[in-house]
Amino acid sequence: MKLNIKETPRSFKVGMDGSITLHDMGSIDLAPDEQVTFVNENGQEYDVCRKAWGYYATPSINDRLRRFGYKTALVKNAKGQGFIMLVEDGKEELFFEYLKEEDNILVSWLDEEFELGRSEIEVAKGKVCPVCKSSAVEEVAVFDKKPDDENDFAIDPYHRSLKCCQSCGHLFNIHDYDVESFYSGHYAQSVYSDEMQAKFEKIINLPEDKSDNKARVQRVQALLTDSGIQRDNEETKVLDIGSGLCVFLHELSRQTSWQCTALDPDKNQAAHARDVCKVEAVTTDVMEYAPQKRYDFVSLNKVLEHFEYPEKLLEKMRSFLPKDEPGYVYIEVPDGEYAARESYEREEFFIEHFHAFSFKSLFMIMMKSGYEPLQLSRIREPSGKYTLYCFAAAKGL
Ligand SMILES: [Zn+2]
Repeated sequence: MKLNIKETPRSFKVGMDGSITLHDMGSIDLAPDEQVTFVNENGQEYDVCRKAWGYYATPSINDRLRRFGYKTALVKNAKGQGFIMLVEDGKEELFFEYLKEEDNILVSWLDEEFELGRSEIEVAKGKVCPVCKSSAVEEVAVFDKKPDDENDFAIDPYHRSLKCCQSCGHLFNIHDYDVESFYSGHYAQSVYSDEMQAKFEKIINLPEDKSDNKARVQRVQALLTDSGIQRDNEETKVLDIGSGLCVFLHELSRQTSWQCTALDPDKNQAAHARDVCKVEAVTTDVMEYAPQKRYDFVSLNKVLEHFEYPEKLLEKMRSFLPKDEPGYVYIEVPDGEYAARESYEREEFFIEHFHAFSFKSLFMIMMKSGYEPLQLSRIREPSGKYTLYCFAAAKGL
């Protein structure tokens, strides 16, 4: 090893506005299989090892570095240049401030990515955008009680924060509640028996111009017809995930010859789909579903926003589509971008939604999950909801 320490360090300016001065202290010349260790005042170590073929830039990212209190970040700057950075435990705030000031983006935590696999990364919850991973995230609203129209899940004390990504416009709720537990209490009770039937009757009898579902059926049929799927094709297999009261499939199966399947985790909803709407019904958690057949068309109406990790569901959905030719999906989500112009108290941002999308974030998440968006639009529904929909094609996994 050769050590060349500069008596007078060379100083130079870097950073967005040239406000950072760096001092070059010298160089170390390592032979293959030699290593040096950098230490800080807390005794945290970081080694660089020279090999015959190059360098180990870091010790094991998910083992040795973690034990010494470092997280490994893959970062991209505004010019698209990539960097690997090591962040000391407890200095995350400082790190995110730096990223923001320098207009950098956290692409991922490499140690978590390595441990969990691509789609399961929980990148610094609330600090970065769950869709584009930008660290330019701002809190736009804080709720210490539920908005007047939100379902009462008897949450006490109530606290959640609504954040907005300044890069892609995605909005997302941050809180510590277990959303699954809301449903076990509230929904199961409210949808049981007669009440469900009455609600269903009321919705299907809405006049054409007042019904979100009838408008949706028209939209979906037009999109599928443009893609070459005819109404009278009895071979067309359709799956609706999170079918709920099954109003959508009820209407769709009345107007077409398609084989419709409703999927809902609630057994009462599934029974209702089978008995009243006369469609095939499956009671299961969609992430557990392993069908024998493939579906030409899968719909996901106001479901994606209920998943903390929506990419996982989009990936799972691809396993339902035909392998040899593209299948189609139709996805509706709350339009956070337009709803935000009115009020953060609106239903698009209610606590049961982890996400409210922007035009850009919906496009990005579809592309990232391997779909080709064929149409993406925003609508104001007859009920007043702000909604984004995406019609997309993808081959099955
Ligand atoms: Zn974003």
